[in-house]
Amino acid sequence: MARSPDKHYRARIIDRRDVSQDLCILRMDPGGPFEYRAGQYATLGLERDGVRTERAYSIASSPYEDALEFFVELVPQGGLTPTLFELKPGDELLCRKIAKGRFTLDLRSGRTNHLLISTVTGIAPFVSYVRTIYHDWKSGSSPMPGDHRVFCLQGASHLVEFGYREELTRYAAEAPWFKYVATVSRPWDNPNWKGETGRVDDLLRKYTDGWGLRPDTTTAYLCGHPKMIENCRGILERAGWKKDAILEEAYFPLAIKEAAGGA
Ligand SMILES: Cc1cc2nc3c(=O)[nH]c(=O)nc-3n(C[C@H](O)[C@H](O)[C@H](O)COP(=O)(O)OP(=O)(O)OC[C@H]3O[C@@H](n4cnc5c(N)ncnc54)[C@H](O)[C@@H]3O)c2cc1C
Repeated sequence: MARSPDKHYRARIIDRRDVSQDLCILRMDPGGPFEYRAGQYATLGLERDGVRTERAYSIASSPYEDALEFFVELVPQGGLTPTLFELKPGDELLCRKIAKGRFTLDLRSGRTNHLLISTVTGIAPFVSYVRTIYHDWKSGSSPMPGDHRVFCLQGASHLVEFGYREELTRYAAEAPWFKYVATVSRPWDNPNWKGETGRVDDLLRKYTDGWGLRPDTTTAYLCGHPKMIENCRGILERAGWKKDAILEEAYFPLAIKEAAGGA
């Protein structure tokens, strides 16, 4: 890598897990002290032929861990991910020294229920929340989770896209404060799947009702595909959620025809 100006560390990949052909989990040594709160994102980049390309990635690891972890989807025509997907353990990339983002747990509003809704890689900041709360709960050294409860609904087209299903299922089996439901929207492609089916947008009312979640006591967090975010925001607002009780992290802009209501 030609240069690494002061704003960046040279991060190094320490582990790579390929979840599917176009999804991978990268763990890296950030290359220097890197502070963040669960839910924030890092800016990763690569420089090729003097051209630097940087993108935002939600951090899936907990601040309690030494390594930074990311759940990345390959966008075949994208500017960064095709090169990012060539990286293997030992390879370097740029990581901005400062984490950013406000998509952190809402511990100020007084609402103690946290409803986490995601598509595919949008689970990353929620993995960071849950790992962090789980650590606090096990160590007993922090007031979290106290009377806080966390409810996670994760959608994907296919079973192979979940990435963190086993880990989150384990937390849900052990922690009374955590509920987790994974749903596949193309069950005909996943004949052995015995779990929930349908898109998160279609299941949202069923689960808010079933879990007894009310707008005045629940903060909703929407992360991932912009269309899912738009649909779920509408459903929640019609159910009484106020704007300030819905936090959003869209991974890319809605295409113009989708924003206009097209296919
Ligand atoms: C705050 C934040 C956090 C993010 N966290 C993650 C994360 O944890 N994991 C992750 O994989 N991505 C994440 N992203 C998206 C990431 O920043 C890149 O946009 C993405 O990896 C594509 O980069 P690229 O350079 O390959 O494609 P680009 O050159 O940026 O995009 C090419 C085209 O594809 C569209 N596009 C971008 N991403 C997708 C997608 N996933 N599906 C379909 N179309 C897409 C773009 O709108 C554009 O039209 C995050 C984005 C933001 C703003």
